[in-house]
Amino acid sequence: MPSLGSEKHRVVVLCSGVVQGIGFRPFVYRIAVKRGLTGYVLNLGDAGVKIVAEGDKQSIDSFLKALHDEKPPLAYYENLEVKWEPHKGEFSSFVVAKSNKNARSGGVSYIPPDIALCDDCRRELFNPQSRRYMYPFIVCSACGPRYTIIEDLPYDRENTTMRDFPMCEDCEKEYTNPLDRRYHAEPTCCPKCGPSMSLYTRDGELIETLNPIKEAAKLLEEGYIIAIKGIGGTHVATKTTEDDPVILLRKRRRRPQRPFALMSRNLDAVQTFAEITSSERDLLLSYRRPIVVLKKKNPFPLSKYLAPGLHTIGVMLPYSGIHEILLYYSKEPALVMTSGNYPGQPMAISNKEAFSQLSKIVDYFLLHNRRIINRNDDSVVRIVDNKLSFLRRSRGYVPEPLKLKFLKDNKETVIGFGPEENVTFTLLRGRYAYPSQHIGDVDNLEMIEFIQTAVRNLSRITNIDPTHVTAVGSDLHPSFFTTRYAEEFSKQRNIPHYKIQHHHAHIIALMAEHNFSVDEEVVGIAIDGYGYGVDKTAWGGEILLATYTSFERKAHLEQVPMPGGDRSTYYPIRMAAGILSKQLSENELQNLLLSYKDAFPFGQREIDIVIKQIYSKFNTPMTSSTGRVLDAISVLLNVCNKRTYEGEPAMKLEAFAAQGNPNKLPFDIKISKNNGIYVFSTSEIMLQVVEYLKSNKRLKDIAASAQKAIALGLSELALAVASDTGIDKILLSGGVGYNDAIVKTIREKVESNGLKFYRHEKLPTGDGGISFGQAVATRILNEL
Ligand SMILES: [Zn+2]
Ligand SMILES: [Zn+2]
Ligand SMILES: [Zn+2]
Repeated sequence: MPSLGSEKHRVVVLCSGVVQGIGFRPFVYRIAVKRGLTGYVLNLGDAGVKIVAEGDKQSIDSFLKALHDEKPPLAYYENLEVKWEPHKGEFSSFVVAKSNKNARSGGVSYIPPDIALCDDCRRELFNPQSRRYMYPFIVCSACGPRYTIIEDLPYDRENTTMRDFPMCEDCEKEYTNPLDRRYHAEPTCCPKCGPSMSLYTRDGELIETLNPIKEAAKLLEEGYIIAIKGIGGTHVATKTTEDDPVILLRKRRRRPQRPFALMSRNLDAVQTFAEITSSERDLLLSYRRPIVVLKKKNPFPLSKYLAPGLHTIGVMLPYSGIHEILLYYSKEPALVMTSGNYPGQPMAISNKEAFSQLSKIVDYFLLHNRRIINRNDDSVVRIVDNKLSFLRRSRGYVPEPLKLKFLKDNKETVIGFGPEENVTFTLLRGRYAYPSQHIGDVDNLEMIEFIQTAVRNLSRITNIDPTHVTAVGSDLHPSFFTTRYAEEFSKQRNIPHYKIQHHHAHIIALMAEHNFSVDEEVVGIAIDGYGYGVDKTAWGGEILLATYTSFERKAHLEQVPMPGGDRSTYYPIRMAAGILSKQLSENELQNLLLSYKDAFPFGQREIDIVIKQIYSKFNTPMTSSTGRVLDAISVLLNVCNKRTYEGEPAMKLEAFAAQGNPNKLPFDIKISKNNGIYVFSTSEIMLQVVEYLKSNKRLKDIAASAQKAIALGLSELALAVASDTGIDKILLSGGVGYNDAIVKTIREKVESNGLKFYRHEKLPTGDGGISFGQAVATRILNEL
């Protein structure tokens, strides 16, 4: 009898999870060869991997252990199915075999997001001895673009846009050498065989230069504005140490106030103009490389036009060779790197789009000849009340799914199409939800086309068959483009269409993110700018008693007039007038508005019209929005009198209030109960703001104290509903959830009453998280 251990065995392992695109096959090869095993490893058509290995029992056991213990940092196993089989002795060595498009691992697998340049590649990039010295497209099997260049599964070069660049002999040698760190690195290339950069004038004329990136850095130094094609799309860049280029960019881009994101060479450079906490540092350096919203240094040494009126600035570090080289040649502590799109259109990804959209915005174009398949804006994150908060979840995170343990484990597939602003869509199959990249504001057909293309691409690489979709979800708002698109989608396929109320969708998203069970009931605080209510009025300060499939509106902010409707969103003094009309007589209001004449574009004439609108209720819808109340406080304190981007007056109020003392001035919080529904009087808060203004209190203290009063009022509403119902879980969602001071106040209040507080940590608290809530509700409703 052969001694134990020398007998030959065979094992077949099916791996699912994140096992393609992260150097997994080279890893398997190395641990197999090290143990003298024979067999093969290959990529499967569903993003899984199959391993067949033969050898003695001890070596195979040790191999299986290494598969767990030594896996590449970005690998993640959803499932490892290990099957022992009789030894066949059919192999003489271990190899990486040709991918099998038609075979499946059976588990749930997905390709990784785009990965920032790794440290090894960065060292090589700046090593004059390397043949990739200063080569912008340097990558290895552990780093580089993934989602943005993939067209189909499995993750092989021929299924990415790198198939346009056949490997040269040297690259081929590395690619096929198991000892090389570019062994099976699908997007690998070099200056001889790979993509290249070119510099053009705004008219599309090629500029002859040996070093286009260096030349671009020089032009930026001189104050020009340049479009720079990168990984997920095109940025528009300019310098940050002078005002003129920033002002010019604002004019051309038609963005008078909206903050611009910056890119800096390294942490040291960032620290010259912003403060970095340790968790922010980790985020800046992570392979996901999001834009991190940091606190500005005081005084702020860069142009004040970068993020006017805000105490924060969004910053990212370079995430590709292109950016590394650009920043290397730049003397600036940071460059503006804002998304390159024409207002109302998605960010340019092809060179043709870049020229047609941006030639009136930029002076030069720094482009490359690699195609981008999936447009993917930079992600934006901020630490709010000591936790990660997504303003935008896109590059570096998509297409990672969220696992929903409370759903049935079947193959049911649904789509949520999102609301109107900050739209994402979400594909949901079985227990996995795939929120899409940031789409943007969907208010025209071009943006609907972007959704269609992105649905097609995301389904292909997540193995979801869009013809198998069994239901769709959308907002309740009848005239949103996304609602109408969902309607059309459902009619064409003859499948149900569920309309989910906006704030309910916010709360559902949060419940699902925390894997609440299907029969759970919660108290949800949904606070934002606007959502269409079931009574057709504008909601936005709501306390909902909610499950995944139903809700009751148990409390809300006082409903106040919006004279002129939407116009009061853009000119918040109208909002202030509407709110105060509930406390002041017509005469008193007239007199007060006189001192805000400048906040009305048409001065006295407009004041008269607004007064008429309010008291005759003409073109004056009602709203319970939290955002509108914050806007109104903002304008009363002379912080911001015009909204030029979403959330602007409230964001500037937050920045202003951050310099004040929130405990300085007492506010009365008045809550009434009508027909069983609690209402918090925001007009009372507004009146107190006016009184404090009259008595010449410090504006910053009024701002901080009033903001705190709003948070306390909301907490009291939620606590009252919790106490009536005996529910101990309070959830906070909606765009006002980005306000650090408000979130902190509500959390402390909830926790000090012995209840549990929940907020978003994986998805945006703003409208970027809505499609996920819609998809979850649609799925559950469709199975009832
Ligand atoms: Zn690398
Ligand atoms: Zn090459
Ligand atoms: Zn919302």
